[in-house]
Amino acid sequence: MPYGSAAVAARGLRLPPLPTIRDLVKLYKLQAIKQMSQNFLMDERLTDKIVKSAGRITNNDVVLEVGPGPGGITRSILRRNPSKIILVEKDRRFLPTLELLQECAKPLGVQMDIHQADILRFPMEEHVPDISQKLHLIGNLPFAISTRLLINWFKDLSLRQGAFRRNDTTMTLTFQKEVAERICAPLGSDQRCRLSIMSQIWTEPKLKFIIPGKAFVPKPDVDVGVVTLIPLKQPKTDIPFDVVERVNRHIFSMRQKYCRRGYSRLFPEEQRDETTYEMFEEAEVESTLRPFQLSVEECLRLTEVYWQFIQKNPEVAKYDHRGPKAIKQEEEVFVDY
Ligand code: SAM
Repeated sequence: MPYGSAAVAARGLRLPPLPTIRDLVKLYKLQAIKQMSQNFLMDERLTDKIVKSAGRITNNDVVLEVGPGPGGITRSILRRNPSKIILVEKDRRFLPTLELLQECAKPLGVQMDIHQADILRFPMEEHVPDISQKLHLIGNLPFAISTRLLINWFKDLSLRQGAFRRNDTTMTLTFQKEVAERICAPLGSDQRCRLSIMSQIWTEPKLKFIIPGKAFVPKPDVDVGVVTLIPLKQPKTDIPFDVVERVNRHIFSMRQKYCRRGYSRLFPEEQRDETTYEMFEEAEVESTLRPFQLSVEECLRLTEVYWQFIQKNPEVAKYDHRGPKAIKQEEEVFVDY
């Protein structure tokens, strides 16, 4: 264990001298592309702080970084001395700067795999190890895909697949500040929404710290929140993910109204009022609460009674109050998370 001493754990590995990220960006003319949500972090103290939020990384662990870009966070990960780093970057312009880090990683005994790929289509099971090694997912995420990616990962977590074949895969991710606050929003908070519920069913999310927009190059219009999401040892439900997603989407579809209003639209009009009444009675939930006043457990009780109902009435599972265009709109489900 040449680099695994307690001193290394405390201070991190020393990397050989490297050009600064700022110089590399200049040297390789890596102007940020807006469509790829590129905002770079140049400050080593901040990238170290993000990686530190991931908790202890041992030299048997694997870290997968989403969107390493020029490699600022990657350097901080490398200093934590994991056994392997997997980089998934869509923009091929960053390959030379990442290959430079790959060369540094070799003599340190850290394996670094670079994949030029879209994380939304990345076949995790082919590339992340079996369950013998703990996995950390880290990323200064592209804003454009961050919520979609998180929801995809919750689905994987619920199915124990992909990156979540072990139940201790940690996520340390950045989001626009408002999204970070919504993920962690407690009961009754103004920011409480279905993303809060979905996050808190399968994980314990924590907003670790805020990075001001001005720390990024180029500066985004918003500040950024660093969130850790630790999978719950015991998920709060085993109802199929899509059912949980559907029910909570309906509950939160009318934020300012009584929660029964959005929920009722799960049912065809002719039976809507009666069935909704029965569901709330059975779930023992007060139907005049606003969605943001519902606890995760109450949302799940409403999901449970709906789940039982559609097993007896399968035709209702396909019902969509929005009519024939619904399937197309379903694809846009992430827009309003
Ligand atoms: N990690 C770098 C940093 O902190 O300076 C860059 C962060 S930048 C906000 C987001 C990065 O994700 C960019 O490098 C961008 O090219 C990459 N990216 C964008 N969409 C992606 C996708 N679908 N899959 C993988 N990487 C993506």
